[in-house]
Amino acid sequence: MELRELGGTGLRVSAVGFGASPLGHVFGDVPRDAARAAVRRALDLGINFFDTSPYYGGTISESVLGDCLRHAAVPRDQVVVATKCGRYKDEGFDFSAGRVTRSVDESLARLGLDYVDILHAHDIEFTHLDQIVNETIPALQKIKESGKARFIGITGLPLSIYPYVLDRVPPCSVDVILSYCHYGINDTSLVDLLPYLKSKGVGVITASPLSMGLLTDNGPPDWHPAPEELKSACRAAADHCRKKGKSITKLAMQYSLMNNEISTVLVGMNSSKQVEENVAAAQELSTSGIDEELLRELEGILEPVKNMTWPSGIQQA
Ligand code: NAD
Repeated sequence: MELRELGGTGLRVSAVGFGASPLGHVFGDVPRDAARAAVRRALDLGINFFDTSPYYGGTISESVLGDCLRHAAVPRDQVVVATKCGRYKDEGFDFSAGRVTRSVDESLARLGLDYVDILHAHDIEFTHLDQIVNETIPALQKIKESGKARFIGITGLPLSIYPYVLDRVPPCSVDVILSYCHYGINDTSLVDLLPYLKSKGVGVITASPLSMGLLTDNGPPDWHPAPEELKSACRAAADHCRKKGKSITKLAMQYSLMNNEISTVLVGMNSSKQVEENVAAAQELSTSGIDEELLRELEGILEPVKNMTWPSGIQQA
């Protein structure tokens, strides 16, 4: 598995990252044996980057990922573990200094770790961004100084949140950003922001190459926030691939992996089969390249919904 530098952190992360939200049963139940097998297989195939959050499954994802990593007996310095703070299933959003400071201790206990490699403020568009700038980032920096998190980041859907925050905090105080659903076959809008992020020295993580299930044969979960027009175009794209005996998931993974300015592509996985398929997609990309003909066909089908997204967060003043 290819390793890529993550901004200026010095971390080298696998191009395919393990998104652990499915381990919180976010996309359906995952038996513990299947979760352990998926994480074990991921490690065996060279995946070293794991992402979770207290929000996923109301803390279940963190506890299960911690259990799976312990069960795999992987040396701590061989894995890069990211979690988040500020978004909770029962409490909603709380990016106050007090809450995020307590949050990291709770996450470490659930994960069974002494430190996380990355601590993100999770979905920051759900609070006033000035709170993130003036209160949350300074609190995360104190956590970083304490050694409980090696690096800090911010996540969220609207791309405008990143320059808003990065232009207002001291240089190098945010190490990484995690953007989702904006670098895949149907939505490439993150690409316009990459030169800016590079100029800020910020590492770029992209998540949801399958658009949270839109670009899979099974389709998205009920809670998927995409407008119906986008869902039906993605369904048509998946049908097209199926009729040709091809996999939309493989093509979508490969598409997101093609851009080397993105350090890692987080894909949510719940079984060793999915791990094997996604790693195989990455390997095939490096040896044979992408199926250009199928890509053009899918881009044609998805053209009417290109970069279509959905509202997320509060109205910023
Ligand atoms: P995704 O696009 O990775 O899709 C996940 C879905 O695709 C799951 O249902 C999974 O079972 C399925 N899948 C994966 N591999 C497959 C395969 N080979 N064949 C068929 N189906 C397959 O969406 P995601 O899980 O939401 O995103 C990935 C990860 O990124 C998350 O788990 C999370 O760690 C992170 N993330 C973070 C944020 C945030 O911070 N705001 C938002 C979204 C995602």
